[in-house]
Amino acid sequence: MLAPLAPERYKLQLTISRQTRDRLEEASDLLGHQLPTGDLAEVVDRALELLVRELRKRKFAETRTPRAPRSAPATEGSRHIPNHVRREVALRDGNQCTFVAEDGRRCPARRRLEFHHQRVAFAKGGEATADNICLRCAAHHGLATEHEFGREHVARRVAEARQARERRRVAKAPSPGTAFTTSSFAFGPT
Ligand SMILES: [Zn+2]
Repeated sequence: MLAPLAPERYKLQLTISRQTRDRLEEASDLLGHQLPTGDLAEVVDRALELLVRELRKRKFAETRTPRAPRSAPATEGSRHIPNHVRREVALRDGNQCTFVAEDGRRCPARRRLEFHHQRVAFAKGGEATADNICLRCAAHHGLATEHEFGREHVARRVAEARQARERRRVAKAPSPGTAFTTSSFAFGPT
């Protein structure tokens, strides 16, 4: 799908739905003055820039104008991870899984990252502080939880999450071709 042509140049070939074509055309039209040539590569680049910014904001609470943390700590028993903690952890961990294998190599995963209570598990009263939270890919998050609580507990949690996802999916009944739907991230703490 993505083939290098020359240094810094790639050829992208893909089949898109009519809805995506309409969106591309509308974006190109709306960019009219800023982008008189209507260069599709430039339109796609600007669209992706916005998408990435939005996803980083949702996932890692990235913002250009961060608010100071509230002085009150997170409510006891709440799984909520405050935005300033998300930002600090994502920055410190470089948006990458922090699992390090026995041979010293760090997991390179940057997909499906989740916030993991590393020192004291949430279920054991672990707090949502940057000291206690790190980024883990879904696989290594699951591994850590399994290690801490045993396989049965993890299997139950996975089944619960799957059922919840299915309920949301049915409730939402997405229209065909919603290519930019971004609500399927799972990054609940454990
Ligand atoms: Zn990992």
